[in-house]
Amino acid sequence: MKGWFGYLLMGILGISAFTPAVAQQRSSYVLVIHGGAGTILQKNMTPEKEAAYKASLKHALETGYGVLKGGGSSLDAVEATVRVLEDDSLFNAGKGAVFTHDGRNELDAAIMNGKTKAAGAVAGVTTVRNPVSAARAVMEKSEHVMMVGPGAEKFAKEAGLEIVDPAYFRTESRWRDLQRALREDSIAAAKSNAYTNPGKLGIKNIDYKFGTVGAVALDKQGNLAAATSTGGMTNKKYGRIGDSPIIGAGTYANNQTAAISCTGWGEYYIRNVVAYDLSALMEYKGLTVQQAGNTVIKKVGDMGGDGGLIALDKQGNMTMSFNTEGMYRGAVTKDGKIEIAIYK
Ligand code: ASP
Repeated sequence: MKGWFGYLLMGILGISAFTPAVAQQRSSYVLVIHGGAGTILQKNMTPEKEAAYKASLKHALETGYGVLKGGGSSLDAVEATVRVLEDDSLFNAGKGAVFTHDGRNELDAAIMNGKTKAAGAVAGVTTVRNPVSAARAVMEKSEHVMMVGPGAEKFAKEAGLEIVDPAYFRTESRWRDLQRALREDSIAAAKSNAYTNPGKLGIKNIDYKFGTVGAVALDKQGNLAAATSTGGMTNKKYGRIGDSPIIGAGTYANNQTAAISCTGWGEYYIRNVVAYDLSALMEYKGLTVQQAGNTVIKKVGDMGGDGGLIALDKQGNMTMSFNTEGMYRGAVTKDGKIEIAIYK
């Protein structure tokens, strides 16, 4: 059995990862997760920190895989997986989310069912402990796809979800990240064009995004689902919403193509409609999931953006493409093997 890296390489080389015989199997189930892409350098990582990240990713994978193994739906699996990562302060989602310019934690999340193409999302919520479950409630208990701010919070409360004090999400390390970003921001603001072309100011070198989480799954019934949850980008301004809760940008699932969850500089993912573009490349051009993943990440990079994605097709072929130094990621493959990686 090849590792995920083998599949990525095969994708880059345009080689199909599975023989048709294997692709026919219907009972296989697969889970792929990410914990954010960014400037993750091995030289900056202590062995303790690396072990903690790997243990968290493993715990999330085991949780979601348990759901799939027990015959649960891909939708249940991605929600359960993302909830574990939201509750883990290592990641930029739920507890441990990054801070906005105004010193708040504003959370975005989305979920999508590949069988029905039903989708739900919340954005800018500050009191919902598990935004991914609020996104699912929007999908299943309302006639809408996306709710934002206080309205979404009210809806989540009425749906019976756990509401917390905004202070619950705070961590000191994310607070320090904001203070650092605010210092950099004042330098950048002294130059012109700060928000129309941040790359020119060297902002790209500062990691404003880090630790968004996502999961994609294929269940025993052959159905795909995707979910993404994030605090967005450190120092984000005045109601900014990223790609994660936008269906087709940061999150998408379609049984005919793939389930996709993105992480990276959200503005570029919105402008490139990355998740849907990946799906469309498979649907209209017949690309494999690996080829489509690499193509859309290249487009993001060509425009000056950075990040990554995970995607999984209905045969269980996966890709984990990224153009950053690293991406926290992992999978439980068809043979039940857990694979976790961080660096390039
Ligand atoms: N894509 C997220 C956003 O722009 C951030 C991330 O993935 O780290 O809100």
